[in-house]
Amino acid sequence: MIFTDTHTHLYSAAFDDDQGEVMQRAFDVGVKRFFIPAIDSTYAEAMFALEKKYPEQVFLMMGLHPTSVKENYEKELAFVEQQFQKRSFYAVGEVGIDLFWDTSTLNKQKDAFRKQIHLAKRLKLPIVIHCREAFNEIFEILEEEKDAALFGIFHCFTGTFEQAKKAISYNMKLGIGGVVTFKNGKIDQYLNQIPIKNIVLETDSPYLAPVPYRGKRNESSYILNIAKKVSEIYEIPLQDVATITTQNSKEVFLK
Ligand SMILES: [Zn+2]
Repeated sequence: MIFTDTHTHLYSAAFDDDQGEVMQRAFDVGVKRFFIPAIDSTYAEAMFALEKKYPEQVFLMMGLHPTSVKENYEKELAFVEQQFQKRSFYAVGEVGIDLFWDTSTLNKQKDAFRKQIHLAKRLKLPIVIHCREAFNEIFEILEEEKDAALFGIFHCFTGTFEQAKKAISYNMKLGIGGVVTFKNGKIDQYLNQIPIKNIVLETDSPYLAPVPYRGKRNESSYILNIAKKVSEIYEIPLQDVATITTQNSKEVFLK
């Protein structure tokens, strides 16, 4: 059984003390592929160090996270471009719009999102979208940008059934994480109406730990709790969830 964690911040300072043990626990439950989203230039070194330790399992993305879009965002975008000139990554991410933390930067966030979509298209790479309280704003931009070159993952998908179908219509897979195990998470109520080929698994470690770890530090081995819930929802064996969602991840990341 091979699981793919399509979104995990294993380079986070939250893992500074026990990164090796966290990785080992993930390996032990079958997580063999880790896709690592970028945030901004200040995290780059930690990301590269993680990749160096686990070159066979760790696959990096590069991008500017919406909550890191500040006054200097154009400089940050230039850093992202430079990185892509130097080497390859598996996606442009995470990118998008977050209106939970800061609404004052909305125009800058939109600009950064659009520019990074263009970059991904140019590089023929997927985008990994972060959306918080910003479905309308994100769908507006995806509507403008939709074409054969636009594809990726709507990470930590927490929307309605209608929003799920809309995201899929833009060639996005839904990143299903800990929220699917929450009592008030809502997506568990309609997920079985979404064909499973449209979903991938993720933890978003160290955030959003699934039940029974809700509120604690999340780690990639907890993907098992997410996968078990998905297997109940779709009424298929756990091995099939692993195989199908790993295959889905390969379609997105081409890895
Ligand atoms: Zn993330």
